[in-house]
Amino acid sequence: NDSRMLQLELTRYGRDEALVIVRDITRLHNLEQMRRDFVANVSHELRTPLTVIAGYLETLDGSGQAPQTWTRPMAQMREQTARMTALVNDLLLLARLETSERETGREKVSVNELMERVAQEARSFSGGRHEISVDCRRESILIGDATELHSAFANLVLNAVKYSPAGGPVELRWWEDGRGGHFSVRDSGIGIDPIHIPRLTERFYRVDAGRSRDSGGTGLGLAIVKHVLLRHGAEMTVDSSPGRGSTFTLHFPARRLVATSPA
Ligand code: ADP
Repeated sequence: NDSRMLQLELTRYGRDEALVIVRDITRLHNLEQMRRDFVANVSHELRTPLTVIAGYLETLDGSGQAPQTWTRPMAQMREQTARMTALVNDLLLLARLETSERETGREKVSVNELMERVAQEARSFSGGRHEISVDCRRESILIGDATELHSAFANLVLNAVKYSPAGGPVELRWWEDGRGGHFSVRDSGIGIDPIHIPRLTERFYRVDAGRSRDSGGTGLGLAIVKHVLLRHGAEMTVDSSPGRGSTFTLHFPARRLVATSPA
């Protein structure tokens, strides 16, 4: 079993000269694979103990037998257990997504239903402080993986809520044009300095780590979005200015849409 992984790079010089660089990236590729497997295994192993801890906390809480002085520590424990569970789930999901960047998904996903669902989830997350609107004027169907698409849409919408601490409108929009279908989420929150934008989809990259943690962020949301997009031939653009808010837009190619009549 001595298959090699080679990377080819071709640079043209004028009409009839070219430089070809061949790199043997077998070792790098294997190391990446080991890293992914390791993360997936650790995350998987952490799930059982977390479930047990969360279970006992709930039992103790519901029993009414915990002393009064435990109220705060117990609330802390519940919160931190929930955070760790979210982190482990995100790590596991990301590890799964990273194993294959090949395009995926043959399910027919109703864009309207998906948008209504994530809007509803965001409303309950926001606790009524944000006005979450959905503007989708046609019955669009996306071809892809329903669970992955839900995670991508939900991450953007929850971020819009998390990063507009003062409340305010969050607008979800879908439209189609000659190039394909576009989903955008606009908030009027804290915004992002342009220097951070190219790095937002890196694992654990945060503009403000404290704020991200306080709002329950794992630092993996946009990395997950990026991998879901890779698997759907889609791209993301970000338009943001500090203090004014952000718009995240996902662009799906026309081949990912089922042709429907305009509404
Ligand atoms: P997190 O769990 O920290 O939210 P993400 O990967 O979802 O992780 O986002 C990475 C970082 O990008 C966040 O920590 C935050 O600094 C910034 N960010 C993402 N969405 C927004 C938004 N709508 N407005 C302002 N900043 C955002």
